[in-house]
Amino acid sequence: MLHLRRDSGAFPTLHTACASGSGSTVPPVPTDTLAILLLAAFYGAATGSFLGVVIERRPDRQSLNGRSHCVCGRQLPIWENLPIVSWLVLGGRSSCCHTPIPAWYLGLEVAMAVTFALIALLPLPLAVRAGLAAAAAVVVGTVGVSRRRRFSREQLL
Ligand SMILES: [Zn+2]
Repeated sequence: MLHLRRDSGAFPTLHTACASGSGSTVPPVPTDTLAILLLAAFYGAATGSFLGVVIERRPDRQSLNGRSHCVCGRQLPIWENLPIVSWLVLGGRSSCCHTPIPAWYLGLEVAMAVTFALIALLPLPLAVRAGLAAAAAVVVGTVGVSRRRRFSREQLL
């Protein structure tokens, strides 16, 4: 039986329990599954963040290169560009001119994080799951760009 034990390090390590061992034992935690879920969610949120840039810039034929910037022109520092976290920390407004950051950015990042995590749980080969995640990103990006072409930035806020 596997259980978690905290060593001096920052991360729990797996140990094999003794059958006659006493002391507190933590119920088995599927660390592999949890790690895969977190990794998939991270990639999903990062993909959602990238799709947000594509959806925002593509309809206006802006380059996808270059750092993100506020509508006032200020280039965003890295910590204001973190998927999901930055929007929540900033309360949905830019730190410089307090311009509202569209909520769909947050929704897109969360939705992609959940989508990638759910795809990661499917009992399919890794290549198939990766393909599904890529297909989901292409579909969401295509639909997003299409919607952005039909509605102005303000209408999408
Ligand atoms: Zn600004």
